[in-house]
Amino acid sequence: MPYMRQSQLFTKTERNTPKDEATVNAQLLARAGFVSKLMAGVYSYLPLGLRVLNNIENIVREEMDAVGGQEISMPMIHPKSIWATTGGWNKIDVLFKVKSRTEKDYALGQSEEEVVTPLVMKYVNTYKDLPKAVYQINWKFRDELRSKSGLLRGVEFLMKDMYSFHESQEDFERFYAVMKMAYLRVYERMGLVAKVTEASGGAFTQKVSYEFMVLTDAGEDDILYCTACDFCVNVEIAKEKEGERCTRCEKGTLAKARASEVGNVFDLGQKFAKDFDVTYTDKDGKKQYPIMGCFGIGISRAMGVIVEKYNDERGIIWPELVAPFAVHLLALGGADGEKIYDSLQKEGVQVLYDDREISAGEKFAEADLIGIPWRIVVSPKLDGKVEIKKRTEKEAQIVDIKEVLHIIKK
Ligand code: ATP
Ligand code: MG
Repeated sequence: MPYMRQSQLFTKTERNTPKDEATVNAQLLARAGFVSKLMAGVYSYLPLGLRVLNNIENIVREEMDAVGGQEISMPMIHPKSIWATTGGWNKIDVLFKVKSRTEKDYALGQSEEEVVTPLVMKYVNTYKDLPKAVYQINWKFRDELRSKSGLLRGVEFLMKDMYSFHESQEDFERFYAVMKMAYLRVYERMGLVAKVTEASGGAFTQKVSYEFMVLTDAGEDDILYCTACDFCVNVEIAKEKEGERCTRCEKGTLAKARASEVGNVFDLGQKFAKDFDVTYTDKDGKKQYPIMGCFGIGISRAMGVIVEKYNDERGIIWPELVAPFAVHLLALGGADGEKIYDSLQKEGVQVLYDDREISAGEKFAEADLIGIPWRIVVSPKLDGKVEIKKRTEKEAQIVDIKEVLHIIKK
């Protein structure tokens, strides 16, 4: 629903900070009624929270479709055999293992190379079928040891995972560059500035990968970045040290910062194709293994990072494109907000209408906590006009109802 009456919303806000949450994102999201914790690292997404998650998901979906990604949905429960084939069953410590009542072993998806590689290669017969890129937006499960960062480290979390298949290293590199640009657009639309960071390629490769890092003290990574150019490296693989001159641009110095990884891109090489022995026929009629790339975005983590970046002492301040609603309409002192609620709906403006009979002070405090970008107040004191204010600004304007749409759409 693009609009909603707050009197109908089943969630409520909480005045007090939950004692079992240590990070700002989890504290504010829980207090404002966006999420509710079931256990460490596992949350329910409530009506307001799910709207935000869907908005982030849709930004990601649009940009993945724009680079030719084809959306699919893969299973989240897998037979042990595919994880044994790649070595992940024994090597990946976060892999959740499940036993059935007949003592069969299964794994829960923590990433899905094991499913996607044989799946896509079932349909790729010759070089003419390449390149291909498929993705899904699905829940992942990881047996994480420290889930104390709210949405930043879930045991269950929402991820966009794309996998690409190529004939040559050159074609992979071409797509890799396209994806890096697409990722930067994704984060920008969410209101995040992500640094492209050199990082280790993981357990199976010596190659570097690129992580997309957003500076925040709530993050769990340390990065070194140049104060003058784009150079950025995860301290895990850095040869450089803090305070040193940047060798790339010879201008800036390297500064250290805490960051959260909101996505990454990997060159998988032929590892998975070889493990499953899946090939295509090249121009000369020879069997070849495709080169694969893998591209992840932490959708639920991004939601947490956005809250870490956009808040003040009163609550969350959602960037417009991810906000649960565009407008929070408050009816004060028995004023009738029905007309403006109707007209906003007719204009396609997403609106949460606080039609409850509670004090103005409570309504204002809740609106600030929830953090919808525009607040519109109707009140008998306003002589038929309305008050409109941005969550980011202190001063409100008193305007004619007719002007409201004009202001919002600008
Ligand atoms: P991290 O180093 O933070 O554990 P990772 O290297 O294990 O991340 P990937 O396996 O590449 O991450 O997953 C792709 C993306 O999914 C990451 O860039 C991150 O944004 C997100 N992600 C990974 N683990 C979690 C988690 N436990 N909770 C929420 N998001 C996660
Ligand atoms: Mg991890």
